[in-house]
Amino acid sequence: MTDVFGDLVGQDEAVAVLRRAAASAAALLRAPVASPVGGYDDSDALAEEHDGDPGRAAADPGAGMTHAWIFTGPPGSGRSVAARAFAAALECVHGTGCGTCPGCHTTLTGTHADVRLVVPEGLSIGVNEMRALVLRAASAPSGGRWQVVIIEDADRLTEAAGNALLKAIEEPPPRTVFLLCAPSTHPDDISVTIRSRCRVVPLRQPPPAAVAEVLVRRDGIAPDVAEWAAAAAQGHVGRARRLARDPEARQRRDAVLAVPRRLIGVGAAFDAASALIEAAEAEAAASVAEIDEAERTALQTALGAGGTGRGAAGAMRGAAGQLKDLEKRQKSRATRAQRDALDRALVDLAGFYRDALIMALRAPVAPVHTDTASLAAAGAQKWDAEGSLRRLEAVLECRAAIEANVKPRIAVEAMMLALWRG
Ligand SMILES: [Zn+2]
Repeated sequence: MTDVFGDLVGQDEAVAVLRRAAASAAALLRAPVASPVGGYDDSDALAEEHDGDPGRAAADPGAGMTHAWIFTGPPGSGRSVAARAFAAALECVHGTGCGTCPGCHTTLTGTHADVRLVVPEGLSIGVNEMRALVLRAASAPSGGRWQVVIIEDADRLTEAAGNALLKAIEEPPPRTVFLLCAPSTHPDDISVTIRSRCRVVPLRQPPPAAVAEVLVRRDGIAPDVAEWAAAAAQGHVGRARRLARDPEARQRRDAVLAVPRRLIGVGAAFDAASALIEAAEAEAAASVAEIDEAERTALQTALGAGGTGRGAAGAMRGAAGQLKDLEKRQKSRATRAQRDALDRALVDLAGFYRDALIMALRAPVAPVHTDTASLAAAGAQKWDAEGSLRRLEAVLECRAAIEANVKPRIAVEAMMLALWRG
């Protein structure tokens, strides 16, 4: 087996930075007691200047390491994979991220006592969740290495939660490391003040060949299927794996790619919008149903459903409140799952019109969807480059509108009409 960085597809530069940081972190742990705190804090300011200077790193063991990081990159580029791999390297008993020791293993399987992972389930991460997290992260690491907090989708922090986090990053406990994941360092995604306290590790969209290679090597997928899935997923590793393995995911994609040839009138455009929305709802419902049910059962058990006797009435009132909280969380998660499903469909659709555009331009670029390339070619003939571009823009505008909280059905209907009219 390769080490913990083996799954970071096509990210050689980022991996080099993280390896160096892990080595520095290990050196800090070995350094005399006085050094970690002092050297560590200094490294924050020095890190950017001296990054990549091995002489400097040797002179100051903390130079490659800092206590707050942001992993940026397009969806599927592996932000959270990178954060987890780095966390494992920090907890690795060899300090390298060997991939086999207990530190690496428990981190990667999500059971390490000093590694906390925040995966927002709703549309935002709230302040209470963040405060509790920051408090726990301040304690000394039980394993004697680092307390690591990974925050996936840090762009979904509420303002108040962001402030709670900022306070922790500004006054970091000596052995605590924060790893944030966000699409970019744009102020819409991450506040300027948090950004200024963090080192940024940019990840790029991995090339299809690199994605295909990892599907074959790690997941044992046949090379021709891996190649097709890697291209169709447009650099999104997880999506490529799902397409290669899950027939239902393939069916959903086929249905989305059938949209362009079905748009033959106004009625058909509205029908297509409904179908797309309903498919996203169904996919989301299926993805959250199991966990919703498990949570409800766990809560009912914890509350001792059916209790009687003294205090039972008060307990029931408290229980009702907790149940309401749970329902609120679950509703928020369902909304998020619907938006994610719809966004995946829109990305597939955008890929189709992008294919038509490059064909109309006769650009020497491989199509995203090899299996609908002939349809895209027919579209290119009919619409020419300009018409293909207008349609591509209609899909991208729909994504942007939903991102800006336009009701999905309204945005999708407007898009379908634009696609039909051209
Ligand atoms: Zn290890």
